[in-house]
Amino acid sequence: MPVTETLRPDEAGLSRAADLLRAGELVAFPTETVYGLGGDARSDLAVARIYEAKGRPRFNPLIVHLPDVDAARVLGDFDQRAERLALAFWPGPLTLVLPLRPDTGLSPYVTAELPTVALRVPAHPVASALLRAFGGPLAAPSANPSGRVSPTRAAHVIEGLDGRIAGVVDGGACAVGVESTIIGLDGPAVLLRPGGVPAEAIEAVLGHPLQQGGSTVKPTAPGQLASHYAPGAAVRLTASRPEPGEVWIGFGPGCEDADLSLSATGDLVEAAANLFHLLREADRLAGPDGRIAIAPIPEAGLGRAINDRLRRAAAPRP
Ligand code: AMP
Ligand code: MG
Repeated sequence: MPVTETLRPDEAGLSRAADLLRAGELVAFPTETVYGLGGDARSDLAVARIYEAKGRPRFNPLIVHLPDVDAARVLGDFDQRAERLALAFWPGPLTLVLPLRPDTGLSPYVTAELPTVALRVPAHPVASALLRAFGGPLAAPSANPSGRVSPTRAAHVIEGLDGRIAGVVDGGACAVGVESTIIGLDGPAVLLRPGGVPAEAIEAVLGHPLQQGGSTVKPTAPGQLASHYAPGAAVRLTASRPEPGEVWIGFGPGCEDADLSLSATGDLVEAAANLFHLLREADRLAGPDGRIAIAPIPEAGLGRAINDRLRRAAAPRP
């Protein structure tokens, strides 16, 4: 992808941005907190591209951005607490982690296969207009390479991601500059990340104190790990050839006779987008007490996130 288009926040610019997003491309856009790196939250490929562009070493769950609370209710289960917080703080810098509703069409990469989903309705007029023009949910982590400072201007986005994303809508400087406050509501209300809305304001609406720093924000916590999909079959990694009886998942040239392939050409973005689904498919083919072997994946770029997920799938289970 040679050039990142800088788009104006007018009708023509937003319609171009929406077209790119519909084509599965990535477009950064301003929110009131920081610039978000938007991709279609229903597309495995678009979400894999987000991880690729940011250089994320792990499939962490992403926040889904929506134009209004009605669109959010389709994806998450709103209890009374969620309704009250949405009414008080949306649109605005508040993210709610809610039980994921069934059959939402969201990519499992957005939730990292968790039974919860993080939802936000941003207040920035350009973000709202883009969400309406696009007409669907946008996964949007901060638009910076992993490990770097979050961008609050289009120029910062270009500095970090030029040539790695299709476009950026230039809406000037972000007003809040810190990330959204994240509240977990899949149990007792918990402050998962402090941010743009003060915890005290949230406690005032809820009428009671928040629990601090719940474990749901760390997908490596034991409870969390258990909810990742683990194949029933035994998984063997870096398998250049299958052993008899194994279902072999190939990657790249040289694996033409594999049962399934993450990417015939060795494309890591394609492999990432196929990964979750192929693990399930291989598990089905392997059957009860079956065995899965997976070809080596290079430990570079998106390969690190793929290998991280594969190591979890291969880890001994209780
Ligand atoms: P960001 O990179 O700014 O988009 O931050 C996303 C944050 O939301 C991360 O800290 C995630 O761990 C958290 N998050 C997103 N989805 C979930 C979820 N389903 N459950 C718990 N935390 C979540
Ligand atoms: Mg970030």
